[in-house]
Amino acid sequence: MFSLPPTPEDPVFALNRLFNADPSPTKISCGIGAYRDNSGNPTVLSCVKKAKDLIGSSTQNEYLPISGDAEFLSLSRELCFGSDPSSNVSSIQSLSGTGGLYLSLKLLSQIGCKKVYASNPTWGNHKSLSLNAGLEYSTYTYLDLTNLSSPSIDITNFLSDLSSMPINSAVILQACGHNPTGVDPTSEQWDMIVEKCRERKLYVIMDNAYQGFASGSPESDSLSIRKFLSSGLDFLVCCSYAKNFGLYGQRVGAVHVVSADSKNVVDAMKQIARATYSNPPKHGSDIVKTVLGSEELKKDWVREVGEMSERIREMRSKIREKLEETTGGSWKHVTDQIGMFSYTGLSKEQVMKCREESVYMLESGRVSVAGVNEGNLERICDVIGRAVG
Ligand code: PLP
Repeated sequence: MFSLPPTPEDPVFALNRLFNADPSPTKISCGIGAYRDNSGNPTVLSCVKKAKDLIGSSTQNEYLPISGDAEFLSLSRELCFGSDPSSNVSSIQSLSGTGGLYLSLKLLSQIGCKKVYASNPTWGNHKSLSLNAGLEYSTYTYLDLTNLSSPSIDITNFLSDLSSMPINSAVILQACGHNPTGVDPTSEQWDMIVEKCRERKLYVIMDNAYQGFASGSPESDSLSIRKFLSSGLDFLVCCSYAKNFGLYGQRVGAVHVVSADSKNVVDAMKQIARATYSNPPKHGSDIVKTVLGSEELKKDWVREVGEMSERIREMRSKIREKLEETTGGSWKHVTDQIGMFSYTGLSKEQVMKCREESVYMLESGRVSVAGVNEGNLERICDVIGRAVG
């Protein structure tokens, strides 16, 4: 018979459950990293709707190859690297970003990597995925936490932590739109990070979950990936199309392996995939492939990602303005940060006070700005103002 202790819930989904159970008609969710429009509703991008119409109902439901749809993978490579550098890059379709990270971490654990490092703080699932893949997990310094009102990368300690990682360790770097801090390294800082990874011979995993959301331009958001590409280092990129295509439930992603040995690496990942879920799902990659493969739909997509990113930027300005008015303090960090998330600097106690008034954010004080709109902004800021006041 089964006899198990209770398993702790995932904090992001636990927060969502608390939110759903709250009967308050004025409750607001700023927890989960999913885009909402200015009326608070989930969005289906118009390019996605058009792609679905083009795909229609006549599509075959045959298995995809274990490695996924070759055309989708080629278009995904082009989006990451600028053109499809297929000569030393091989790819495998993945179950969105999470599935790609799992394949990458499991592969690294199979080839003798012992330990993986992610930023402090980072997306909570990095730790669970690493442990699940059989790796030890630790963190490297990321943000200068002494000055949250003017957030910046603590590059000195970041580089020094990279320097002291044992040879053969792996490091997860977020390509853009860092979750949860909203702070990305500058171009010069990326150069130093690339150099340090080379020096320490680290296995690099670029977690690319927000391409387009950080700057509003998918091209500009691939800067860090292109720097690694031109460095000549071996590395992995895990792409998610959940956020930037609004395809959260479709689980569409890709892992690109950059290495002279990339074909063998992908073949080993195919073995892991075969023994885990066998083949990737098809509908999501059909949609992304249809959009990226059409000049017109790709243009629509670039515009729509830009609009989502711009709406979030506008909300940041309004939150800052309103909070500075109500609290009298500086909230400059809210507009300095980029991407979907804002690390507000609220303590756990202040977060709990907000929850008592039915405004939900993560215990770390991370707000998903994508959940803020013209209709709920006043109330969010009033509640935060009271919590910090
Ligand atoms: N990486 C980061 C930093 C994330 O924040 C997320 C999702 O929130 C993911 C990866 C993976 O998302 P998905 O598996 O939905 O593509």
